[in-house]
Amino acid sequence: RQEQEVIFQVSGLKKHFGGVKAVDGIDFHVKKGDIHVLIGPNGSGKTTVINVLSGIYSATAGQIAYRGSEITNLKPHLIVGMGAARTFQNIRLFPELSVIDNVMIGQHVRSKANLLNILFNFKVREEERQIRARAEEALAFVGFEYFFEKVKNLSYGQQRMVEIARALATEPELLFLDEPAAGMNPEETQELVKLLKRMNELGITILLIEHDMHLVTEVADYITVLDFGKKISEGTVGQVLSDPEVIRAYLGE
Ligand code: ADP
Repeated sequence: RQEQEVIFQVSGLKKHFGGVKAVDGIDFHVKKGDIHVLIGPNGSGKTTVINVLSGIYSATAGQIAYRGSEITNLKPHLIVGMGAARTFQNIRLFPELSVIDNVMIGQHVRSKANLLNILFNFKVREEERQIRARAEEALAFVGFEYFFEKVKNLSYGQQRMVEIARALATEPELLFLDEPAAGMNPEETQELVKLLKRMNELGITILLIEHDMHLVTEVADYITVLDFGKKISEGTVGQVLSDPEVIRAYLGE
C-alpha cells in the first residue's frame, strides 16, 4: 500500500450548516486502486463528506485535491468530467423512464452534446450510438438484463444496481458510493460484494459509505472512521475494529 499513488487528498475539510458542524476538520487520502470505506455512527458526517467531495455542497474550509489538482468547490458535472462518478443514498433515477434511458442520461453529463441535440441533431447520432453502447456495456457488467423495463417496476435492490451502472457508464476512475447496500436483501448484497470487487479489478478506485459491517470486512482495503464530524481512526479492517476509540464511538460510552 505504501507505493500506491494518492488519487484523492482531503485536507482540513469543514462543512458547517449554520451552527451544525457536520464535518469539522477532516484529513484523509484515498489511494489509487483501493476500496476505501467511510464508517461512523449515524450523523457522523459521512454523507456530507461525499457531498462535498463530489461538488454537491461547497466546503466551509479546507482543500480537496484529485490527482494532484485542486477541485475544491468545482461544480459536480466538472468533477464527473474528471472521472469521479457517484451514486446517492436516496436513489435518484427517473422512475417513468426505462433502465437503458436512465443509464444513458447519466453519460450526457460527460458528453459535449446536450439532450436536445441528441434528440434532434443528426450529427450527434454517432455519439448517441456510443452512449447507448456504453450504457449497454455497463448494464451487462452489473448483470442487468431488463433494459426496457421502467425503473418504477424494479425492486429497490435492482434500482441500486441501475444507479451503479449509470455511474459506471461514465467510465469513472473513482466511484463514490453512498450506502449501496441499503434496502438490499442478502442475495442482492452478496451480488453487490462481487460487483464491487469486479469494478475494483477493472482498476476503479472506490470510496464507499457503508453500515453493513459484514460487507465492510469483505471489501475494505482501508477504512476511515468518523464521529461527530471528525476522524477518530483509520487503517485496515483489523486495525480499526480493534481500536478502543472506534468501539467507544459505536457503543456510545
Ligand atoms: P452520516 O452520513 O454520517 O449519517 P450526515 O453527513 O448525513 O451524517 O450528517 C451529519 C450532520 O450534519 C447531522 O447532524 C445532520 O443532521 C447534519 N446535516 C447534514 N446535511 C445537512 C443539511 N443539508 N442541512 C443541515 N444539516 C445537515
